[in-house]
Amino acid sequence: MSDFKRIAILGPGLLGGSIALGLKRRDREVEVVMWGRSPERVAAVQACGFDHVTADLGLAVKGADLVILAVPVGAMEDLAARLVKEGLDPEAFVTDVGSVKTLPHRSAGRVLQQAGIRFIGSHPMAGSEQSGFESADPDLLVGAPCILTNDHGLPDGEVNRLVAFWASLGARAAVMSATEHDRLVARISHLPHVLAVVCALVSLEQEEDGSLAGGGLRDTSRVAAGDPEMWTEILLENREAVAGPLQASISMLQRLSELIEDGSQQALATVLEDAQRRRNKLTALK
Ligand code: NAP
Repeated sequence: MSDFKRIAILGPGLLGGSIALGLKRRDREVEVVMWGRSPERVAAVQACGFDHVTADLGLAVKGADLVILAVPVGAMEDLAARLVKEGLDPEAFVTDVGSVKTLPHRSAGRVLQQAGIRFIGSHPMAGSEQSGFESADPDLLVGAPCILTNDHGLPDGEVNRLVAFWASLGARAAVMSATEHDRLVARISHLPHVLAVVCALVSLEQEEDGSLAGGGLRDTSRVAAGDPEMWTEILLENREAVAGPLQASISMLQRLSELIEDGSQQALATVLEDAQRRRNKLTALK
């Protein structure tokens, strides 16, 4: 169990809602409060049966020992500045759940550090193509990796507190720098999203053809159903790291195209075998 006793989650969306529901299910002692940016959003969350939610930021973070920024990365700096203005207890610990990490450290992390508030980045590698509290799942983090970035150099003991927090939700933490994180997720998360988009656009050029498609098209294009606004933001925020894997994909497609066009059976089979071996290993890793 983690040692945080009152946790404020800012942004009652898919991630924020899943963390809140997961905490309530697993730890009866912990106090969880969510903050939503509008009374309409707060009412919508209450209508789903979660009462500890408010549109009053000061009220949400009052007495909190852990504050989680679960909003889009582009909104984090303003929110951090508002937290400082609200007089967030300097003893409080802040993390985020953003899908990129260099930017939150440079923006929200810097604002908080200047105010003497501790910040370590987190990226739970869990989610879905859905969004909003309505899609929140208390088991979203079970078995999921969660990457922590400690670019502000807090002591190991602080990192371990956050590791224990994510473990209390069933996630297994790994620690690396924000730059390493952004390079890694460019390949293992952001590139797959782009390729799913390509699959959806090219395979479903005639949308009605989808009615005749099997599971392969659905599996391969699944994440392309994600929120376009959020993914535009993620891809642009990580554009430097995404560029390399994108170029490598273009080269790989070019190579495959040539092998298929030339009828190079052996060479083509070798590429497909290599891909099969890597994909089978992924299944074994889970
Ligand atoms: P979501 O379901 O759309 O929730 C986003 C939440 O942020 C909503 O409550 C939204 O409020 C609020 N919000 C949006 N803009 C805001 C602003 N300017 N100020 C204050 N609140 C704002 O999205 P999500 O999937 O939970 O994503 C939240 C974070 O998790 C993002 O940083 C994302 O990168 C990260 N993440 C997502 C996934 C995934 O697969 N979805 C996985 C890992 C990490 P309204 O409801 O009022 O719009």
